[in-house]
Amino acid sequence: MKPGRFTYHAPTRLEEVLGLLAEHGDEAKVLAGGQSLMPLLNFRLARIGHLVDINRLGTRFSAPVIEPGRITIPALVRQRHVEHSEELLAALPLLGQALREVAHPQVRNRGTICGSLAHADPAAELPAVMSVLDTTFTLASARGTRTVEVADFFQFHWTTALEPDELLLEVTIRRPPPGTVTVFREFATRRGDFALAGVAVACRLDDTGAVADCRIAASGVAPTPRRLAAAESRILGSTLDPETLAAAEGAARAEVDPATDIHASAHYRRRLTGVLVKRALADAASQDTERREARQV
Ligand code: FAD
Repeated sequence: MKPGRFTYHAPTRLEEVLGLLAEHGDEAKVLAGGQSLMPLLNFRLARIGHLVDINRLGTRFSAPVIEPGRITIPALVRQRHVEHSEELLAALPLLGQALREVAHPQVRNRGTICGSLAHADPAAELPAVMSVLDTTFTLASARGTRTVEVADFFQFHWTTALEPDELLLEVTIRRPPPGTVTVFREFATRRGDFALAGVAVACRLDDTGAVADCRIAASGVAPTPRRLAAAESRILGSTLDPETLAAAEGAARAEVDPATDIHASAHYRRRLTGVLVKRALADAASQDTERREARQV
């Protein structure tokens, strides 16, 4: 298991990274945590001419920025860093809920948040998470910087809005409105494996327990994270009672069209998506009840 020949670059400044990507374009790959790229290179599923290792960029690329209205996660923030940051998890608990399901601690020690998003595996947890949060992607190249909203970032299996000469510089997540409850649920055959399907939910209930706003996205059932618009609209304005949960389950099941592969049939994934949506919404309802009860004490 040895990769093909390539030229290794270890730039220390952002301008150098962007210069290398501009010069080598299609032949180059960025190396962040290496947890997806190195297996691909070692198995020769990918071949490249130039490897641009960004790990020597300064500490500003590995430190999240937490502001009152938003959280910015630059290119070299490791998944494990986020998982252990009380401040980040208080602001965005959904990240912690999902990261616990990503691979194993050893992988998360090196793997970056931005690397997972740039890699865009259809079964990955973080793209679905970003799809229910207000997330903006900042893409940098020698030509300049541009921003892309999450709805336009993921384009197909392992394909994003990133051009070959662009670096995903950072992602910015606006803090969800007060009262938002979040849940991540998935099913994998073994702990740490990529899941057969997963569901991310960000929901805000009003004082009567009725759903005022809700975003639901599924992973593993489409080439990109799939917002479940029919399930979302089915629960809007309703309390999350058993009848509404059953209706959301049915709506979710009907609106996904997954593929059959060696791990599971399309039929199984479709049913699984419905069950995960129902359970995630039930979790959201209990979280909201606990939150309101705690406020009354
Ligand atoms: P790298 O491997 O360095 O890069 C991945 C790709 O993204 C490459 O094409 C690279 O060029 C590109 N890239 C990286 N950073 C940037 C950037 N800033 N700008 C532009 N392009 C960039 N992931 C899951 O989501 N769920 C799982 O259950 C899961 N299980 C795993 C199990 C194992 C055993 C392993 C080895 C990995 C698993 N992963 C899983 C993948 C893991 O989460 C990776 O860390 C992640 O997908 C990629 O992050 P990275 O920083 O390692 O990126």
